[in-house]
Amino acid sequence: MQFELSHDRRNISDSDLLSDLRRVASEHSEQQVKQRTYEDHGKYGVTTVIRRFGTWNAAVEAAGLETTVERNIPDEKLFSALYDLWVSLGRQPSYSEVQKPACLFHVATYERRFGSWRQALEVFVSYANSEGMASPEAVETTGVVSSRTTRCPDLRLRFKVLQRDRFRCCACGASPSVTPGVVLEVDHIKPWSKGGETNIDNLQTLCAACNQGKTNHHEEQ
Ligand SMILES: [Zn+2]
Repeated sequence: MQFELSHDRRNISDSDLLSDLRRVASEHSEQQVKQRTYEDHGKYGVTTVIRRFGTWNAAVEAAGLETTVERNIPDEKLFSALYDLWVSLGRQPSYSEVQKPACLFHVATYERRFGSWRQALEVFVSYANSEGMASPEAVETTGVVSSRTTRCPDLRLRFKVLQRDRFRCCACGASPSVTPGVVLEVDHIKPWSKGGETNIDNLQTLCAACNQGKTNHHEEQ
C-alpha cells in the first residue's frame, strides 16, 4: 500500500488512473493487471482505484484491459453478444452502447480482438452475411443424414432475415429502434412442425406480441 497525500488524490483524473493501469499492464505483459502487481508497480494506491471505479475489475475493464473472466472468449460468443445487442436496438449499436449490462462484453474487448470497433463491426457483418463457412455446429451435423433443415435458424440466418425485414415486425411494423423494448423474433411462416423449412424464404421477423398471437396456431421459438 502506498502513502498518498490527500491533495494528490484529489487531482488524479480518471484517465490518469486508467493510463497508469495500462502502463503497468504493458510493462508486465499482462492482459489484465492483478491488484498485487499494481500495488508493487502502480503510481497510485489500489484503494484509490477501487474507490473511483467501484471494483478492481471495473477499473481494469474501463482501462480496456481484460478481466480474468473475459479471457479466451471464442469469436462466436462475441458475435452472439453483438447480435443480441443489435437486435434489441433494432439497428447498428454505437460505440458507447457496447457495455454491460446491454451487451455481455465491453467495447474494449471487441477492440482488442479485432483491432478497432469499426473493424469488429465489419468482421461481424461479413460473418453474419456469409454462408457455408463450417461453424462447430455445422461440423457436428454434417454426418446426420437429413433431408430437412434444422428447426432453429442459426445466428447468421436470423440476422439475414432481420436485415431483410429492416428490423421491423412484418405484421405490425413495430421496431425497437422506434419503440425501445420491442422484442423481435424470427418466425417460420409455414410452421416447421408442418414441414416448413428453415430458410430465408420461409422465415419472417415478428415482434413478440404478434408472434405470441400466432402461438395458438403453432408453437414457435
Ligand atoms: Zn408485431
